[in-house]
Amino acid sequence: MTRILLHACCGPCSLEPVKALMEEGFVPTICWTNPNIQPLDEHELRLATLLAWARDTAHLEVIIAGDDRDAWEREVAPHGFDRAARCRACYVLRLEEACRCAVERGFTHISTTLAVSPYQLFETCTEELVRLAGEYGLTPVVRDFRPLYPEATRESRELGMYRQNYCGCRFSAAEASVERQHARDARKAAKAHVG
Ligand code: SF4
Repeated sequence: MTRILLHACCGPCSLEPVKALMEEGFVPTICWTNPNIQPLDEHELRLATLLAWARDTAHLEVIIAGDDRDAWEREVAPHGFDRAARCRACYVLRLEEACRCAVERGFTHISTTLAVSPYQLFETCTEELVRLAGEYGLTPVVRDFRPLYPEATRESRELGMYRQNYCGCRFSAAEASVERQHARDARKAAKAHVG
């Protein structure tokens, strides 16, 4: 049995990685550090959803690590709509804080639930997890949880968990809104074509 600190971006994304890691013999503790989530009400709602699930369903400890929103504005926001650079900086900020917390609490292994969402930049996230874990003397547990995403969606709906429709920052909220509009336009165009 190996203790692992699992950075969690939200409750729904934690369901399947926790199960998969436990099946491998890991004992996960959740780490919350997500200063990227805007606005603050949304941040509080996602955290409350995670805490309720961890307490009532998963029976897991949640460590609330640093949530440095000023650092996010300084180090991530200037990348604006350059998604590749912005998300890399965002992963670095959160995963570095998770690594710092892991070392402080005596963990040897670290992973992240970001690896379950097909909307994340998996390769970038993995690169940064491996690099930062190495810098902090931790073992990165890299798993491609993305095939488990449909099951996470189904189960989180069944549990009545709050499910957000954008990644977290204000840029992602705008991008998601544009994507939804494009999808609506495409459906309308397809209907008109059939008609
Ligand atoms: S889209 Fe998500 S990962 Fe990328 S910068 Fe925004 S909150 Fe961070």
